[in-house]
Amino acid sequence: MSRWLKITHSLLASSVSDCLICGKKSGISSELPGVCKSCQTSIPWIRHPRCPKCGRHVGCPDCSRSSDPVPIVCNRSAVAYTSGMREVLGQYKYRGNERLAPVLGLMLDQAYSILQSERGQMPRDGGSKQLHPLIPAFKSKRNRLWQADLLVPVPVSDSRFAERGFNQAERLADFLSRCRGVPQLPLLVRTHHTGKQSFKSRAERLADMKHAFAVNPDPAVGSQFAHWLESSGQGRGALPLQIIIVDDIYTTGSTIRACAETITLLAASLGCTAEIYSLTWARS
Ligand SMILES: [Zn+2]
Ligand SMILES: [Zn+2]
Repeated sequence: MSRWLKITHSLLASSVSDCLICGKKSGISSELPGVCKSCQTSIPWIRHPRCPKCGRHVGCPDCSRSSDPVPIVCNRSAVAYTSGMREVLGQYKYRGNERLAPVLGLMLDQAYSILQSERGQMPRDGGSKQLHPLIPAFKSKRNRLWQADLLVPVPVSDSRFAERGFNQAERLADFLSRCRGVPQLPLLVRTHHTGKQSFKSRAERLADMKHAFAVNPDPAVGSQFAHWLESSGQGRGALPLQIIIVDDIYTTGSTIRACAETITLLAASLGCTAEIYSLTWARS
């Protein structure tokens, strides 16, 4: 566990006496500080995703039926988006209960651990060669625990940002960045407001998302990215960049897909390749 993660754990554990989810004064869980044991045990964690592609906890007709090429390696989510989890997210996102931010961040970190242990079984240089399961990971440098190179939050439109005062995906990416020591950059911007997605059909969402994102035109972000590529030596290297897109919810995957396509084009324009993943707090 990183130093920062430990600090967050101990701060939450010592400063919170009322559960941040239900508000009751009862025993705070040690696994998820700030949350009582009863709320903690009712969290619908996705520890063993049933769909290897989108990380869904139940059988997934979308991924098995669709023949569209998917621009991400996989999505992993911390929890199933149940009505209880919808209530928690609503408290944070719409009712401004900012104290929930580290709790959601710690939950997303669990999904990172799952992704890391899944990817950790593979050599880092991208081959599909499976090492013998009895060879300990620490004996091979190439087989060290997988780590992302960069986190990219899904952007919100300017009007959403003005309405809420923050971008929840950026807050989650910030938290994960500090826990894991992986840099985060707002590489993307939303070029148009797509309206409420939940009322739309799958086809409508896909069409809607086609041109919803673009590379962030802010020269400061561009130069940070170029500098990062330069200093990490990734730009010219043979290894594809390991990039994680971060968002709060994965519903049809159309948002993540559109973001991944934009990042893939950006990487190609800079002469490098990227393997793109997504980490989302909940999977609906
Ligand atoms: Zn509680
Ligand atoms: Zn799926």
